Amino acid sequence: MSNELLIGVLGLQGDIEENIKATTEALREMNLKGKVISVRYPEEIMKIDGLIIPGGESTVMGLLISLKDELLHAITRMIQRGLPIMGACAGMIVLAKKSYDKVIGDKKQLLLGILDIEIERNSFGRQHDSFESDLEISGINDSYKGIFIRAPSVISVGPNVQILSKFGGKIVAVRQENIIGTSFHPELSGDYRMHRLFIELVTNWKKESFQQ
Ligand code: GLN
Repeated sequence: MSNELLIGVLGLQGDIEENIKATTEALREMNLKGKVISVRYPEEIMKIDGLIIPGGESTVMGLLISLKDELLHAITRMIQRGLPIMGACAGMIVLAKKSYDKVIGDKKQLLLGILDIEIERNSFGRQHDSFESDLEISGINDSYKGIFIRAPSVISVGPNVQILSKFGGKIVAVRQENIIGTSFHPELSGDYRMHRLFIELVTNWKKESFQQ
């Protein structure tokens, strides 16, 4: 086993480059060897040690995934193996079990359904479209600047989901085993501690799968 980590950023739509940069910086801060690549083909997904689903537009991303059967199968197979995944904003929506839009109500869209949460899309309304706020996040010391852009919130969580952060009474970060979801965009804050938290999951998973 190579001890170099290979982390993929789903390269269909959204903040792909920003996540590649943030993850690369986080690896450097942690003194870990690794490569971060954009992934969009099944054979790439099957090779990675962790996957980031970026922020962007969840309906478009879902559509692009659903057009590629093999890609969806590869993602599903890796999820069953416990692949660590971090989904930010639209990425968290794509991972969720259920979602509706606060502005337009129900909208049919592909959801991977592996994160046991219900999402309210565009949860902070039109006036409060994009904003920044200092957050308390479990697992991160000191406050963290969350950047919210037409952000969703989590309105309910299943029994295996841990709430990592709340803002204004709304849940904005969660963890379910190896899956992290955030309403905000950790790749845009210049603070890589959220990516570092994710990389810790990746490192542990890689160690565990090697021992089996
Ligand atoms: N509002 C977008 C959606 O529902 C998410 C916005 C984002 O990722 N910044 O997909």
